[in-house]
Amino acid sequence: MLGVSIRAFSCKKFIIIDMLYTITKEFKVDLAHRIFNQDLDDRMSENSANKCRNCHGHSASIKLHLSAPVLNRQGMVLDFNNLKIFKSWLDKYFDHKLVLYVDDPWVNLLFPRLSQDLLQRLRKGEVDVLDDVSFYGEDIYDISENKVKLSADEQEWYHSLTLIPVPTSSEHLCKYLHKIANKILRTPHCKYIVSAVEYSETDSSNSIYQSNE
Ligand SMILES: [Zn+2]
Repeated sequence: MLGVSIRAFSCKKFIIIDMLYTITKEFKVDLAHRIFNQDLDDRMSENSANKCRNCHGHSASIKLHLSAPVLNRQGMVLDFNNLKIFKSWLDKYFDHKLVLYVDDPWVNLLFPRLSQDLLQRLRKGEVDVLDDVSFYGEDIYDISENKVKLSADEQEWYHSLTLIPVPTSSEHLCKYLHKIANKILRTPHCKYIVSAVEYSETDSSNSIYQSNE
């Protein structure tokens, strides 16, 4: 259950329940993705068209849950205002972007000029995400690490892309965003944890990743 930590001790008389305060903030993003390895089971599906292998879009909802056993001096888990930094991350990397898994075969097919060195850094976890700024900055590097000039249309095409180190299923996105939120929102001495991240592709489908801290 979100926000409740239960610790049972061997003494039969006492069960200590550490109640946690939890705040929740919902964010909305419009993004495109695909499930490159979708493989529906005929026995459990009306058809096996594997439509999610096609590039398609969602108006997705992301809910961030932060929990703490005690409140800060302002009587809060964390001021909601501080969550804007997470919204900025979503706006920059996810909103109105084509979000692809770095090992999706389409990456090299559709974006052949990407630096392989940068892709390797993403795979190794040296960076969390690659987008247009990461790709280019002041310079543009191609697959052989040479500086190249792209046309305006090519730049727009490349700038529409965000690459992440995990497949883009809802479940993976939940865990990935949990990691990102932890990095962005937590400080060395903060009392709160990112207790869960929910990701909803549609109003009727929801995935949750919960912290085991
Ligand atoms: Zn989808």
